[in-house]
Amino acid sequence: MAVLAVTKGFGPEAIAAAVIAGCPSVGENYAQELLAKLDALDALDALEGRRPEVHFIGRLQSRKVRALAGVVDVWQTIDRPVLVDEVARRAPGARIMVQVNVSDEPQKGGCAPGEAPALVTAAREAGLDVEGLMTVGRTGRPDAAREGFRMLRLLADEVGVRQRSMGMSEDLEVAVSEGSTMVRVGTALFGDRPPPAQPPK
Ligand SMILES: *Cc1c(COP(=O)(O)O)cnc(C)c1O
Repeated sequence: MAVLAVTKGFGPEAIAAAVIAGCPSVGENYAQELLAKLDALDALDALEGRRPEVHFIGRLQSRKVRALAGVVDVWQTIDRPVLVDEVARRAPGARIMVQVNVSDEPQKGGCAPGEAPALVTAAREAGLDVEGLMTVGRTGRPDAAREGFRMLRLLADEVGVRQRSMGMSEDLEVAVSEGSTMVRVGTALFGDRPPPAQPPK
């Protein structure tokens, strides 16, 4: 079981702290914030050349893919054909996950569960390395997310992928009990996120 340290909202020191503490993969949500932080990290030299594995876990706009292509190692929020095409074009062979909206909540990203198999197939045909499926659990009490996590696990088996990226600070125990292979944890590791200085783009 992998722990992805979600460092959005924190400075580059949080990334350095995660890597030094033995958590070499970090999750980030916003393109500009990520790019600025990686520059700062190079300047800090805190990691002595070690670079974290960067997972992009935010809403992805296709026009941001080009700028991110050199720095993102795993694209976890691929949820529509245009993103498959754009990532395949800008980062051929990239490692991705298909994000699925298992709770049918309109404010959440992800394709409908019924669309996931076709999207996985399209990504494979485009030469992408589909490592897994990703989801954000239903909002509410942790147990509210259980049914959706169970669905993601079944879907992952159906499409034949290894990773099930599910579970965040509030619902990670439920996610693990339903077969998560990667929990994405921010506040439980780093505390409450500082309010953004400016609205994230
Ligand atoms: C912010 C975020 C997380 C981490 O959330 P916490 O509640 O701080 O653990 C995990 N996954 C996604 C997609 C996120 O946007």
